[in-house]
Formats: sequence, C-alpha cells, structure tokens
Amino acid sequence: MRFCSTCLVPDTRPNGRFDVEGRCQACTFAEQQGHVDFEQRLVELEERLERLVRHRRRHRWHCIVGVSGGKDSHRQALWVRDRLGLRPLLVSIGYPPRQQAEVGPKNLSNLAALGFDCLTILPGPVTSRQLVRDGFLRFGNWQKATEMALFSGVQQAAIARHIDLVLWGENPALQVGDLGSLGVDMWDANNLRNLNTLAGGDIDWFHEVLDDRRSTTLYRFPTHLELERDGVNTVFLGPGWSDWSFAQNTAAALLQGFNLRSDTPEATGDLYGSCQIDEDWTIVNGMIKWFKFGFSQGTEEANALIRAGLISREQGVEIARRLDGACDDAYIESFCTYIGLSLNEFWGEVRRWVNRELFDIPSTGRPVPKFVPGTDLEGS
Ligand SMILES: [Zn+2]
Repeated sequence: MRFCSTCLVPDTRPNGRFDVEGRCQACTFAEQQGHVDFEQRLVELEERLERLVRHRRRHRWHCIVGVSGGKDSHRQALWVRDRLGLRPLLVSIGYPPRQQAEVGPKNLSNLAALGFDCLTILPGPVTSRQLVRDGFLRFGNWQKATEMALFSGVQQAAIARHIDLVLWGENPALQVGDLGSLGVDMWDANNLRNLNTLAGGDIDWFHEVLDDRRSTTLYRFPTHLELERDGVNTVFLGPGWSDWSFAQNTAAALLQGFNLRSDTPEATGDLYGSCQIDEDWTIVNGMIKWFKFGFSQGTEEANALIRAGLISREQGVEIARRLDGACDDAYIESFCTYIGLSLNEFWGEVRRWVNRELFDIPSTGRPVPKFVPGTDLEGS
C-alpha cells in the first residue's frame, strides 16, 4: 500500500493512479489550479452554455442541476442562477422514508425557500430496500444501486421533462482522479456513465432480486443513443470555477441556511457534519470502504484540507487516524433492522470484504488496521 506524497490517497483507490513523483491525480490537479486563468475559463463556460441554452431562453427552465440538498448542491444551484444567470430546475433523487434522515428534507426545503424549483423523485420503497439489501450481500456495498439512481435519475428526468441541458459540479476525472469518466474535453460530462460508481453498472442482477413487475427505470442510465436522440448535453461546471472546494462550499452553504448533522465526528467519521447528511447508512458503507481500501471519509476530508493548504499532511494523518472507519453502532443496528439481518450476520458479511493485507481480524470486535494513514505499508 503506497500513499500519495502530498495527500493521503492510497494506491488502493479504484480508478486512480500516481505520477512519477508519487502524487495522485487530485493533487496534480490542485497544483495546476494555481496556474489556471479562471477568468478565461469562465468566459469559455459561458459561451458554451450560451450556445446550449439559446434555443430555450424563453422556457421556464434552462437546464437541470442534479442536487442532493448537500453543501455542494447549495453552492452549485446558487452559482448557476446568480453567477451564470440561468434558470435551473433542481432534480434530486431522494431516499425512501425509512432511510431518509430529517435533515435531508430540511435542506431541500431550504433550496425551495431560496427560490428554486425543486423536483424530487423517490424510488419505490420495496424495490429500493431489496436492492440495498442485495447490494450489501453481493458487493459489500449497499449503495451500488442507489448511486446509479442518483446519476441516472437526473438524466432520466432531463429526457422526461424535455430539458436538454444537465449541469454537474466537479469533473471527477480531473478533481478526484476518477479516470473512467474523462470526456472529449474538461467540460464534457457525457461520459458520466463511465464513472466508477456506474461502470459495471449493468443492472442484470436486479432481475435476480426483483420480480418483473417492479420498475427499474430510475436506476438505468440512458444510453448514448437515447441522450443523443433527445439532444441532452451534460456539462461540468467545475473547470470554470476558481474556488470550488470542500471548505468554500460548506461555508457558502451555511451562509444560505444549510443545515448540518447534529451527531459527532466520532460517530460519523465526518469532521464537520456537512457530508452525506441526508441519511445514516452511508456511514456504514464508509466503514466497509475503509476495510476494503484502507481509507474513508476522514481521509477524504483531510485530503481536501491538505490540498487547500489549510492543514499539513501530518495534521491530515491525525484526522484520518481519528475518523476513518468511524461508525456508531446505532447506524449499524438501524441498517441491520432495515435489511433484516442480525448483527452477527452483518459482521459475518463484512468480514468477507476486509482486505487482510491491510487489516487484522480479531476473534471479537472490529478489524484492526496494520497501517498508519500516509505511511507506505511494505509487503502489501
Ligand atoms: Zn494526493
């Protein structure tokens, strides 16, 4: 296990790679950001958007912005409307009632209060629960289907509503280092379907889980052909945005009425309670991700702060050590109740996914890391 020389991204990260100096894609990207002429980029973005919305200037909505109600969504919606001068329809794919945390609808209501039109699409609760359960048992990742819905549902809405422009925030190929989603240029998000969460996102396994009467449309990313037929273009805003960052987005959203989680970083693994706040089981998945790859939310947040120059790598290591893998028992218990597993069955499943080169598995209790974040682990 090797770590980026600048931040704490390990080489176990799917779809990532290091340059010859041992830096990850995201750090190389962050460094390049300092040399980018953002005024020029913004002009480029505005010209591109002007070409794409010219024919629908008189329509009620110029574009769709996919939102979760989170901090990035707040910032993005406001930027699209107030900086770019577009009228967006905000589309969010929600969670079924048993999964939804209270703060999620509060934040969506806040977006509505800020004057946005919001469309929330909820998955069928029976289908959703079944896919959550099966995603966990099959892939050790309950979010497998949900993440597909988050992206696919927004593109589906574009087709259904005849709105042919969809805007996303950051380009993960550049910013996070997910190379699978590179498009023809940095603005092009038409390859979003290749994003790691969607890649291998075939939904054949759904048919082994669900009976045929259940609709799976929400989970199916439209084909290139369908999107082309309806002329849907998908564009990343991130490359034209000089101060898109974890810290800036959180601060900007808070100033606009965004609500944080009320539980502690030790319970959630989230330093400020500002990430993935609309339900609790992402925290369970974060813990499993840690067992699989040796990093989770603590590392992600530390990395963002390191790249922003707000903390040192050493301070980042402390955050990662303190928060990676954190998950309060209460979230595990509510997750088990939801999918109908006992705690013993849950841990039996989780153990199957633990990377044994990175973790020791004691006879009782949670797996214990053999590594320290940021320090290469030999022989793994
Ligand atoms: Zn890095």
